[in-house]
Amino acid sequence: AKEAGRSNYLFFVPEMNVRVFERLVLESALRRAIERDELTLHYQPQVSVADGRLVGCEALVRWQHPDMGQVLPGQFIPVAEDSGLIVPLGEWVLRQACRQQVTWAGAGLGWLVVAVNISALQFRRADFTQQVVAILRETGAAPQRIELEITESALMQPTDALHERLLELGRLGLKLALDDFGTGYSSLSYLKRLPISRLKIDRSFIMDLPGDHEDAAVASATLSLARDLGLDVVAEGVEHAEQLAWLHARGCDSVQGFLFSRPLPVAEFETWAARHAAA
Ligand code: C2E
Ligand code: CA
Ligand code: CA
Ligand code: CA
Repeated sequence: AKEAGRSNYLFFVPEMNVRVFERLVLESALRRAIERDELTLHYQPQVSVADGRLVGCEALVRWQHPDMGQVLPGQFIPVAEDSGLIVPLGEWVLRQACRQQVTWAGAGLGWLVVAVNISALQFRRADFTQQVVAILRETGAAPQRIELEITESALMQPTDALHERLLELGRLGLKLALDDFGTGYSSLSYLKRLPISRLKIDRSFIMDLPGDHEDAAVASATLSLARDLGLDVVAEGVEHAEQLAWLHARGCDSVQGFLFSRPLPVAEFETWAARHAAA
């Protein structure tokens, strides 16, 4: 009876039906994409607010499908998370980013920090640390130049085991950043106990600066909290000079956004880096 109810529901809601179908198509296409190496990483520069110099970059996955063309992460990351494909996908991303770090180190860009997005599902798997250790060993990447971006929501009410996992990753030398900060409604008191070195203010709080009073309050509170806790702050989604000036005045360490550059394919990123690197 339950089965029947389900198919009736799908039958009478054609829009939903299409969406379920699209998801299934997307899921099997994504499975193939991981196997066939259709994914690539683009890198978005992160620059120091004090002097505008390049300090790091965020690796962002891109999918070029032979027929569908460019599929955006906003479309396929949620599908990857629901289907569990995020685990092999995330492993691929981390390995690729680590290889890139090694290549760059050989090309005189060894100081560049490469930030990698880690999904909650990936981070919460019991074998996550082992996976990271294996990839570091296999690629020879410098852990001090790899930053794991873990979302605030993934670390809400962290268990002792997850807390210990963060400590372990920190002991390996990896940098740890709290991504999408401000979106998780988490209590701030847990922050001081987390072994992280950076907060990433979510783009939704940066977008309407400096005009929007609520967003300004959140961004401003985050910056002063970070200062008190001795954490670095990076603001994402900076598009305008006014936003940069506002963040500069409040002690934000670094920024990432279209004002400086979109995420770039490797070759273009290297050209960009050559123009903005430390002398
Ligand atoms: P995110 O981690 O918050 O990444 C920042 C997103 O903001 C990127 O979108 C970037 O292109 C975009 N962005 C950066 N600066 C600006 C700006 O100035 N203006 C605007 N409008 N957008 C800006 P993207 O690459 O489409 O990725 C979307 C999300 O997909 C990411 O959000 C992240 O949650 C997820 N994602 C991307 N790559 C990966 C990955 O390799 N692994 C995992 N787990 N998630 C990923
Ligand atoms: Ca991120
Ligand atoms: Ca974000
Ligand atoms: Ca994110």
